[in-house]
Amino acid sequence: MSNFKGRVAIVTGAASGIGKQIAFRLAAEGAIPVIADLNLDAAGATAKEIQAKGSDAFAVAMNVVDEAQVEKGVADTVAKYGKIDILVSNAGIQIVKPIVDFPFADWKKLLAIHLDGAFLTTKACLKHMYAAKYGRVVYMGSVHSKEASKLKAPYVTAKHGLIGLAKVLAKEGAEYNVAANVVCPGFVRTPLVDKQIPEQAKELNISEADVIKHVMLKDTIDGQFTTTDEVADAVLYFAGASSTALSGQSMVVSHGWFMQ
Ligand code: NAD
Repeated sequence: MSNFKGRVAIVTGAASGIGKQIAFRLAAEGAIPVIADLNLDAAGATAKEIQAKGSDAFAVAMNVVDEAQVEKGVADTVAKYGKIDILVSNAGIQIVKPIVDFPFADWKKLLAIHLDGAFLTTKACLKHMYAAKYGRVVYMGSVHSKEASKLKAPYVTAKHGLIGLAKVLAKEGAEYNVAANVVCPGFVRTPLVDKQIPEQAKELNISEADVIKHVMLKDTIDGQFTTTDEVADAVLYFAGASSTALSGQSMVVSHGWFMQ
């Protein structure tokens, strides 16, 4: 994938889990990952790990719901590297509860991180992408961009919403050579999922082993979790696309849990 040499790629939520692996894979392909996360120490630690492997990487503190922080992280990146070629909008959280008990504050918090975060980071990066007539935006969706599960009302709502945002950006961005796509993973064993296993066991009154086997992996073709590397493969496929022929699309990486 030679399309990555010298590309500057902001990855939100890149201090952990899926985003971290995406940053490593981009660096391995010759791109410069910008590790954007809530905590500068954690983002900086990831950047150092990448630098230790001989690649460039940059860390910025960015709460994706804070417009000023998003603008600053993007401005600092452009001040250092002169451009932004790729945005991977990946930061996210999960909160599980039935709708009837879902605190309104938690609904708003989750929607804000997933949707406001995607909007604000996109908006901040777009002016630079439009000026350069190049941009590849990848949103981290989920099988829950296509499917529903109990206890996940705001998450399913937000992940469906990202597909709408990608389609609009595909239309608006095309004349500036900006493509937008969504990657939709199944369950990946990251801190986000590890936290859910005991929570779902409690809500559904079943064992943690049964949550994994009979809830999370029930409909996969092989009973396997999706890996961070398998998700990164799909992200790099979209992020390295040579034209806007591939835009406004979504790709599910879920060991067959969801089939289009
Ligand atoms: P994770 O908890 O390992 O990592 C999430 C990262 O996002 C953390 O570093 C966290 O600090 C950061 N973050 C949280 N809120 C933020 C904010 N407001 N601003 C900036 N950074 C913030 O989770 P993960 O599993 O790697 O999830 C990454 C993305 O993948 C999320 O969008 C999630 O919805 C999506 N996803 C995960 C799975 C899964 O099974 N793990 C499946 C499908 C989709």
